[in-house]
Amino acid sequence: MQETKKVALVFLPSDSGVDGARSLYAEKDSNTLFSWFNSSMRSLIKRSQFAIPPLALMILASIEVEGIEQSICDMRFEEFPFSEKWDMVGISVQTGMAKKAFALADTLRSKGVPVALGGAHVTLFADSCRPHADVLVHGEADDLWKEVLTDLKKGSLKPIYRSENFPDLAVSRPVSKRSLDISRYFTTNLIQTGRGCQHNCDFCNVHVLNGHTLRRRAVSDIVAEVTRFQQDDRRIFFFVDDSINADPLYALELFRQLTPLKIRWFGQATTTLGQQHELLETFARSGCQALLVGIESIEAKSRSAHKKNQNKAGELVKAIQSIRSAGISLYGSFIYGLDGDTLDTPAAILDFVSQTGLDVPGINILRPIPGTQVFERLKEEGRLLFDPLDITAFRYTFGQEMLYRPKNISLDEFVESYSTLTRKVFTIKNSIARGLAAPGAKPAVLLFNLFYTHLYSLSRHDLHCQQEKKFMEKTILPSAE
Ligand code: SF4
Repeated sequence: MQETKKVALVFLPSDSGVDGARSLYAEKDSNTLFSWFNSSMRSLIKRSQFAIPPLALMILASIEVEGIEQSICDMRFEEFPFSEKWDMVGISVQTGMAKKAFALADTLRSKGVPVALGGAHVTLFADSCRPHADVLVHGEADDLWKEVLTDLKKGSLKPIYRSENFPDLAVSRPVSKRSLDISRYFTTNLIQTGRGCQHNCDFCNVHVLNGHTLRRRAVSDIVAEVTRFQQDDRRIFFFVDDSINADPLYALELFRQLTPLKIRWFGQATTTLGQQHELLETFARSGCQALLVGIESIEAKSRSAHKKNQNKAGELVKAIQSIRSAGISLYGSFIYGLDGDTLDTPAAILDFVSQTGLDVPGINILRPIPGTQVFERLKEEGRLLFDPLDITAFRYTFGQEMLYRPKNISLDEFVESYSTLTRKVFTIKNSIARGLAAPGAKPAVLLFNLFYTHLYSLSRHDLHCQQEKKFMEKTILPSAE
């Protein structure tokens, strides 16, 4: 009888984020009170479990090929089990974590374990991944992975598997949770109803990776998945689509059919929902508790400079009020430092937050991700603070370092004004007040606000450390100031 082949699918932690916030500089002054507080908060946060499972790996682990056994190694929670015998290891490579992925791949290959690399970074920068892999999986892997596993079984792996077209999501591909340790996560009820985005925001790579056409799964498949998922985890559902209301007729039908299942759910939407009255009511009735909306900017100049055109700044306040009145809490995500922003922008954001009563304001710094239009533009304009030729130099953090020079604000002024803004928005008192005032998911809103109070203190600490080093730690470009 043929021996079962074992495949591990690996998810790597980012340098810092909501599922594992850490200071980029604390280790260097490990005796300080700040460092002690930081590590205590980190273990508290870990216990609070903001982490959600890696859905892309759940999808791959659900693909069955006889004679192949797949498991997920989520390195946010565990070390890679080198002592076990692996027939292949697949690593999901994101641009902010490419260095770690390559280091792990190199170690595994030096021990004779074949490595398959896939994910956004491979799709965008295949050449930089090739020296670290036996197999590259280029593009959305839903259809390719079965071919890879079948070839592994036959002993005939190819160096590259490329998806020429985006997979048709209307084809039924049930997702299973059997490879997950359910107790580790905030929730394991992750659902994706479709992929692609018809918009073109220049700081985003969703439309680059998944195309401009919305591709949808069958409503009946989603209803069946929700019914199945409910059986082993009664916690909140999270619809991970970038915009769950992008196709209003589809969303209306889906959430009407989900209403009898009595779930509670979070999702991501555009503020256009405030004008989609029937859909808004259906969302509320189907158990929607909170939504993340990408406001990005309330400055008209910034919105047009970064092609964020899908909802007009003037309509935002009314739309947000209308969504909150339906009993849905809102996480509003801003980016400060866009090309139309000035030193007056923080005051405008503060006004906006208090006028709308946003339940969780997330105030980010622009991250010029390699592969996006904004990365190319800032590279041309000589405004990046990391080596544009070394795409692995980019890393994800939570507002903790400057990766570019803002257009109208000096770096020093930016750090001071950003720090003052986050200090005003995130106090313990404001966090409790927002938690109490939230129209839905009060405990989650309170926890998130308190967590952000900590995260933005990390941001201020790290930005000031970077400022003390004159922003040079990652800089290769001559200082323009
Ligand atoms: S930011 Fe949102 S709306 Fe803009 S392109 Fe990305 S996914 Fe689409």
